[in-house]
Amino acid sequence: MLVLFAFILGAVIGSFLNVVIYRLPAGESIVSPPSHCPRCSHRLGALDMVPIISWLVFRGRCRYCGAPISARYPLVEALTATLFALAAWLHPNPDVGLLLIWTFTALLIALSFIDIDHYILPDSLTYGGLALGLLAAWLWGFPVEWRVSWQGALAAAGLLAMIGGFGTLVLRRGASGKPGYPVGLEHVYLAAAVAAWAGWYWGVAAAVLAVALNLVLRKPLPLPDALTLGVALLGVVASSYGVLPLGVAESFWSLLLAAGAVALAGGLYWALQPDEEEDEEDDEPVAMGFGDVKLAGMLGAWLGFGPFLAGLVVAVFAGALLGLLLRRRKLPFGPYLAIGGWVALFWGAGWVQQYLAYLGLS
Ligand SMILES: [Zn+2]
Repeated sequence: MLVLFAFILGAVIGSFLNVVIYRLPAGESIVSPPSHCPRCSHRLGALDMVPIISWLVFRGRCRYCGAPISARYPLVEALTATLFALAAWLHPNPDVGLLLIWTFTALLIALSFIDIDHYILPDSLTYGGLALGLLAAWLWGFPVEWRVSWQGALAAAGLLAMIGGFGTLVLRRGASGKPGYPVGLEHVYLAAAVAAWAGWYWGVAAAVLAVALNLVLRKPLPLPDALTLGVALLGVVASSYGVLPLGVAESFWSLLLAAGAVALAGGLYWALQPDEEEDEEDDEPVAMGFGDVKLAGMLGAWLGFGPFLAGLVVAVFAGALLGLLLRRRKLPFGPYLAIGGWVALFWGAGWVQQYLAYLGLS
């Protein structure tokens, strides 16, 4: 019964997600105007909007003007319905937990299709999902405990920001990216460099100080990426030789937390600026879009860091596999992260346990 209800609910939510996927990136309102045919503008009646079924009955055409309607619409509805039903089957309690899992699922579907269409992950969805994950952990300790949630968010975002940093440094052959004013990626790497040697709060403090200096001097202070990333790496290496008060695990964890904290806070600052201030239309080589960092933060908040890593492994494998099958070069990474994150929500913690047991660590 619950599974059947979940399927129907999922189909209805999927129909709503189609509107979100279509209208959110265009900056249109989600609620008004009411749904209409994009070609003849005829307002859609209840009969035209029965999820999945309307499309099949009217054979993928507008009932008023005969314009073809993309198969994407029933596909999103069917996908949402199936995942909602699967979630109810795997979590067979009609409680707050199931409601949260459905919300997480809906967010990931909207993010994936918007990324496929436009190569963007809207801040409203990534930061909204991140806030909701933290709130759920704080209020209900679900899906993970509060401490696991906020640390997971920072470490997951930090990991992707650092992978992006090192990748971009290689692509640019050691040259620095354009500094941000008042806050930019160079502050993420500075935080990582200091944190690897001294602990994560010192890393964050160093970044705050550098941003404050930018504001006082009214221009971006040069912080070469090769230097900060090099010092960060050296800190982890040094700690593994017992040179530092921090152990190697502590040093690496500090680096991730500090980098993630500055990346998410800096990203939030830029998200709140008016559009023309952002200049992401650079043709500088960038290894990974910054939207992926925010999505990682959201996933970390919902999953915790261990299961997030399991999801990241799934995402990389799914990406490599589908990239080969589809033979398309420019594929967004967001949908793969979403797939990995959804899988990890149910099985990630179990896999991490098994892996630790295999290593003899638990
Ligand atoms: Zn029409």
